[in-house]
Amino acid sequence: MEEQNEHVNIGREEKCRKYGEIMSEKNVFDEFLQIKPLFKRDKDVFGPSYIPCKLLHREKQIEQIASILVTALRGGKPSNILIFGKTGTGKTAVMNYIGQELEKITGKDFVKVHIIYMNCEVVDTHYGVLANIGNNFITDWDARIPFTGWPTEKVYKQLTDAIDKKGGICIIVLDEIDKLVYKTGDDVLYHLTKVNEDLKNAKVSVVGISNDLRFTEYLDPRVQARLGEEKMVFPPYNAEQLQDILKQRAELAFEEGALEPSVIPLCAALAAQEYGDARRALDLLRVSAELAERDRSPKVTEIHVHKAKNKIELDCVTEVVRTLPQQSKLMLLGIIIETESGNGVLTTGEVYEIYKQLCKKTRMSVLTQRRITDLISELDMLGIINARIIYKGRGGRTREIQLSVPPVETRRVLEEDEMLHDVLDYKPTTRQDTLT
Ligand code: ADP
Ligand code: MG
Repeated sequence: MEEQNEHVNIGREEKCRKYGEIMSEKNVFDEFLQIKPLFKRDKDVFGPSYIPCKLLHREKQIEQIASILVTALRGGKPSNILIFGKTGTGKTAVMNYIGQELEKITGKDFVKVHIIYMNCEVVDTHYGVLANIGNNFITDWDARIPFTGWPTEKVYKQLTDAIDKKGGICIIVLDEIDKLVYKTGDDVLYHLTKVNEDLKNAKVSVVGISNDLRFTEYLDPRVQARLGEEKMVFPPYNAEQLQDILKQRAELAFEEGALEPSVIPLCAALAAQEYGDARRALDLLRVSAELAERDRSPKVTEIHVHKAKNKIELDCVTEVVRTLPQQSKLMLLGIIIETESGNGVLTTGEVYEIYKQLCKKTRMSVLTQRRITDLISELDMLGIINARIIYKGRGGRTREIQLSVPPVETRRVLEEDEMLHDVLDYKPTTRQDTLT
């Protein structure tokens, strides 16, 4: 195969010479090879599964969790733990780190502790969670719990039998537990927090991790009490802490001198303004460097950071717009068309008017104004438009609707939808005075 390819290439050169073509001395890769890379090779330290050996500014939280779970190594059942904190505050990273530390020493001089990690955004049903835990203990392929089909009670029985057979202490980490509760209620937590009553040789503890403080309101009080034996909150990182986290990662990811000194402080400051999310800070640094490489810049500069911030924000908007229902897309296009023709501040009535015109053109069914008002609120919540309620005299009120995303880029996303092709260049007919 290789020989054949070589042959083809030689053939091409010979042919070109034969016809008198002058071959260039330059290779297409030359130019690129001259640029010094910013990223080190084969380093995926920005990847979602990478956990640094040392988690900065989480010493206290790690210590607190370890002081609770150490009971397991001595054969006792640790208290259940609930961990709260906004996204990007290191909850998942800390729990994975603790899992690794536990794996290192368990079973040697201490009791065997099994730690099972599950992300409830992925495994998001009562059945799925129980089957997943059970199958962690069942090595015989034929005896495994099927992905669907059994009555829940049977899955539960199989699970308790399997855990008891193995014995020891089992710590079940349910990450993004709030998603599970919102989707399927608290039955599974009810089962898991009372499973110890049905076990003879083993003990189970649950560690729940949630981005949302309020989800416990949706739990049965008994489940709430059992699950929250220990509670802790991971606070957002401040700008200095984010700087340390970024520096640690940058040393692993970048060649020396790849970053201008002000890049990390800027990334940290921008991310600190937005809820102290370490993931956002890391994304910002990574995208800045990617843009710098694309620009063939020898260094990452503040300009790249600002560009990266815009790019990340725009990517989010793009994703949201792309997944909107068609009626909302049509209405959004209407708002863009009006904005482009100089009418940047609209009332609900005006939005409804242009929306109806577009419906007629595309032969889509027309929703009621009431329904469109709801869709306007939705777009407002998603941050695509800004709908401010203005109170007028005698209890009257209206809304001032403005686009809060860039029209050109948003239009480009809407163009992907074939349904809208006929109305992309629609010119609004003269407007009657419409009131809300
Ligand atoms: P959460 O689960 O709270 O949403 P993660 O644990 O997933 O947050 O953290 C988000 C990202 O930030 C991950 O890439 C993680 O490695 C990194 N990170 C979070 N906290 C730290 C820290 N203290 N030190 C180093 N990296 C961190
Ligand atoms: Mg997480």
